Amino acid sequence: MDIEISNEAVSYLSEFPQHLCKMCGKCCKAITTPYTHEELVKLAEEGQEEAKVFVEIFQRYDSVEAARAAVPDHVENILNQLKKSNTDFDESKVTFYHCPHLTEDNKCSIHSTRPDCCRRAPRNGWSLFPPECGFKGWQFQQREKVKASVRKLKEYLAELELLDDNFFLQERNKTVKEMKDFIKDKIKPWEKYGASFW
Ligand code: SF4
Ligand code: SF4
Repeated sequence: MDIEISNEAVSYLSEFPQHLCKMCGKCCKAITTPYTHEELVKLAEEGQEEAKVFVEIFQRYDSVEAARAAVPDHVENILNQLKKSNTDFDESKVTFYHCPHLTEDNKCSIHSTRPDCCRRAPRNGWSLFPPECGFKGWQFQQREKVKASVRKLKEYLAELELLDDNFFLQERNKTVKEMKDFIKDKIKPWEKYGASFW
């Protein structure tokens, strides 16, 4: 039974297909975060490294409308996805940013020192990229891989449910209860993407 979902899910980093990028530059022209701008600045002031790098590099659009005017389909796509995933969605709390390091021909002028968030993008199969992004097919494959791994974990969990919680699993060096908790922790990060229904 393969329970190394986290390794499997991030293994793409070593085989990241950069050549799929169509160099449209849209993902550098409209970026948002789960935080309001004020929250992000506060995190940066408190020393959170990713927030510090983010506010140093990216420039804020004056309004959602300004971002929409710059990259209409990408911004609309992001807003639609955010609406779907949050019933309390409030567009006025969303801030979009753009990167001043993108050149006119859509190249990264700080490529060798670009921040981690850019190196890892698209982070996973659920990252919000424009509809015609070259990574769409790759993202679909990543989602399917993760779903298959989560389904295997759930099958194993169902088998464990048949055993007494205190039974000791020699091969795992864990009790059934510990193993069940371990597997639930593996599944948890994917719940926000719908893992409960896979
Ligand atoms: S949106 Fe996709 S195709 Fe366009 S620059 Fe970004 S990663 Fe490349
Ligand atoms: S640092 Fe480079 S890759 Fe990152 S958003 Fe800016 S231009 Fe794009």
